[in-house]
Amino acid sequence: MKRSKHKQNYTYFFGAGKAQGSAKMKSLLGGKGGNLAEMTSLKFPVPPGFTISTKACLNYYDQDKKFPVGLVDQIHTSMAQLEKVMGKHFGDKSNPLLVSVRSGAAISMPGMMDTVLNLGLNDRTVLGLMHKSGNPRFAFDAYRRFIQMFGNVVLGVDHAAFERILLDKKRENTVTSDAELNEEALKELVVEFKHLIHRKTGEEFPEDPFEQLRASIEAVFASWNNERAIIYRNLKHIPHDLGTAVNVQAMVFGNLGNDSGTGVVFTRNPSTGERKLFGEFLINAQGEDVVAGIRTPQSIDKLNKVMPKMYAQLNMLCAKLEKHYKDMQDVEFTVEDKKLYLLQTRNGARTAHAAVRTAVEMVAEKLINKKQALIRVDAAGLDQLLHPGIDPSTKLTVVARGLPASPGAAVGKAVFDAHRAIDMSNDGIKVVLVRAETSPEDVGGMAVSQGILTARGGMTSHAAVVGRGMGKPCVVGCQEIYVDEKARSFSVNGSQVKEGDFITIDGSTGSVMKGKATLVAPKLSKDFKVLMRWADEHRVLRVRANADTPRDAAVARNFGAEGIGLCRTEHMFFGDDRLLYIRRMIMAKDETERKSALSKLLPMQKGDFKEIFKEMKGLPVTVRLLDPPLHEFVPQTEEDIKKLAGQLKVPVATVRAKAQALQEFNPMLGHRGCRIGIAYPEVIVMQVRAIVEAACELKKQGIHVIPEIMVPLVGHVNELKATRKVIVEAAEKAIAKHKVRLKYQVGTMIEVPRAAVTADEIAKEAEFFSFGTNDLTQMAFGFSRDDVGRFLPFYLEQGIIDRDPFVTLDQAGVGQFVRQGVQLGRVTKPNLKVGICGEHGGDPASVEFCHKTKLNYVSCSPYRVPIARLAAAQAAAKDGLKDG
Ligand code: PEP
Ligand code: MG
Repeated sequence: MKRSKHKQNYTYFFGAGKAQGSAKMKSLLGGKGGNLAEMTSLKFPVPPGFTISTKACLNYYDQDKKFPVGLVDQIHTSMAQLEKVMGKHFGDKSNPLLVSVRSGAAISMPGMMDTVLNLGLNDRTVLGLMHKSGNPRFAFDAYRRFIQMFGNVVLGVDHAAFERILLDKKRENTVTSDAELNEEALKELVVEFKHLIHRKTGEEFPEDPFEQLRASIEAVFASWNNERAIIYRNLKHIPHDLGTAVNVQAMVFGNLGNDSGTGVVFTRNPSTGERKLFGEFLINAQGEDVVAGIRTPQSIDKLNKVMPKMYAQLNMLCAKLEKHYKDMQDVEFTVEDKKLYLLQTRNGARTAHAAVRTAVEMVAEKLINKKQALIRVDAAGLDQLLHPGIDPSTKLTVVARGLPASPGAAVGKAVFDAHRAIDMSNDGIKVVLVRAETSPEDVGGMAVSQGILTARGGMTSHAAVVGRGMGKPCVVGCQEIYVDEKARSFSVNGSQVKEGDFITIDGSTGSVMKGKATLVAPKLSKDFKVLMRWADEHRVLRVRANADTPRDAAVARNFGAEGIGLCRTEHMFFGDDRLLYIRRMIMAKDETERKSALSKLLPMQKGDFKEIFKEMKGLPVTVRLLDPPLHEFVPQTEEDIKKLAGQLKVPVATVRAKAQALQEFNPMLGHRGCRIGIAYPEVIVMQVRAIVEAACELKKQGIHVIPEIMVPLVGHVNELKATRKVIVEAAEKAIAKHKVRLKYQVGTMIEVPRAAVTADEIAKEAEFFSFGTNDLTQMAFGFSRDDVGRFLPFYLEQGIIDRDPFVTLDQAGVGQFVRQGVQLGRVTKPNLKVGICGEHGGDPASVEFCHKTKLNYVSCSPYRVPIARLAAAQAAAKDGLKDG
């Protein structure tokens, strides 16, 4: 049928060296479709076919799940074109064309959507396939596979029901593997599978190939919105309105016999980054067998032994692909009767370790430049490298070994299904998910687990691919364990591990241990250091850490922190001895008693500051004055109240009355932050003395520190003015006493919306600003930080907001306060130093925002410092502020 000009085009053909699409058209053709088109144009051996665009899928949803006008005609036209190129006919009884129907979204969602293979087979065409191939076993195997897949994916019959029949058939024939079933048995399976479908759906299996095709395309459209795909998109923050393309492609057969096979290969090792083909294949098998992890495949090196020519050709094609795409590729291939075909290529998912190594090595190979290398590494993913490994002195014995699919060690309670994993982790329990093999339904459970262990599957099985993508330690194909999911246990060499028992897995070595190992800090690779050096050359933002102990400060400095952006002094008051004095201070009857308690705290705080300052020598340290509501320090239970009364030698009723008096309806909006110091200036005086005296004493020893004293929760300039006066008086007095010259600064947090919108006033009293985006988010949304867990999951599930605003800064709302705060502050003081110290300081998207908003620095938890350094460099590289 001729297409009129204004009719929407939904199908894009590729074949015979020509393609209507290209890799640039990913949003329309999906990643798979775009790359198939691109590879076809580049003359790679790709079976021909056509891609139905994502637009068709979106229109399908817009029109109440009906195919858009013109699509069916276009499918017919494209099929005719495909028949011509292949010299075969769809539905033909002597030389039938068979096709695969695969999903393919713009952003890869491995295994989340549906695929149908061997489509076009029916009772007539199977005979054609049999005659043409001269291989009746193969023909009936393809037919039973098709019915099984179509029955499951399109008609919704449970996969396990087919597997039960298959298992019975193997028992009946006394064989163990599918490949051993003979032609007769396969023919019986065809009949039994069709009966099963009829029994379960009340409908006959469709014999008409076009009906099969239509229904399969519709099933793929529908799979865009299946539960696991939605969960996956939520997890990966992939928009829900992209739709999927559908690829209809001529089948090539990896199950034609021992000169055929199928596999998945990475151009470099996705776990380590080593520049060497890495992957797996199965002889006499179809693609799904490898990816699904049903049979454990052989390593790609073996292909070199059994099919050396194929291996050499594959190697050469992979090298060409890498050169073209300038990135590590993940390639699906099939060998049909000694002829090699590529079925798909995409940028390979990789561990952070591999990402860093390939990025650095590709710069040396002149494949990419430094800027591209920086942008290519997922900043949040670096977290994986910073994860602890197992302490070598750990005494646990290794009970089993599997394949090391995703590095890092994980310790947690064994759990045997995804829902239990989610429930237990919601209760704050750390779990390791153990499965015979994972399926896409398990994704939610995998995401909340510390690590994943499977008994079956290879390095490219579902568990391995998804585990790596999530950066979860993962051990797969651990055949020594027998997993009984029903009984919620696994056995290994005669012993048992039940749900709730602790296990440890090491995704770098593949080892599995019973019990809890001690974990130790990771060693950073040379490549990591190189990449970080490039990041530092490119970034404009400075990166500091939030640290309140000398240990945290040391970790932060080791990770490249350029100062401390937030030292929460209240954290120093915990610990039995200190708590007692702060409680004495709170319980004090009058100022004299309060001062006496504070005088005991002074040397302790000073000692802490000295240790931290020493770690950070030469770098700025922002110390925040006491922030939380005082009742947090007061005992709550009757037992603790009695204990404190005993310690303070006062009546129990007095302590109880004080604790009650300090109760507030909204403590986060109550007597906290600068409001404490305004009521009790002696608290400020003690803290300032501790800070300044510590700095002065170190200065005398030749250790230079730059203390910055920060006032929390300011909303009105007069709060800061009053507090600043007390600070300066106390600081000057301490400096005069020590007779040294010490520079210090006084600044404020901007974490109350009123402070942000009056920042020009506030800046008159401040030498620096630091955005406390935790409180600012709390107050801007009116979401209590402590109670948000009750309703935020619903908000996220229903798409009312798409990210947790306490993790990723809400740029449209909270970000507006930040922008305004910066702009107004710099109206008063053009060079005002501005940072951020809320949790967002370590979140890459928020770091990019801070870069664009021209902050001077971000401050984040010590382990996130490298992430922030890289994210800051990526932000700079993207906007081209600096050239690399
Ligand atoms: C903030 O509010 O963002 C902040 C850093 O302070 P805290 O989390 O201690 O309230
Ligand atoms: Mg705060």
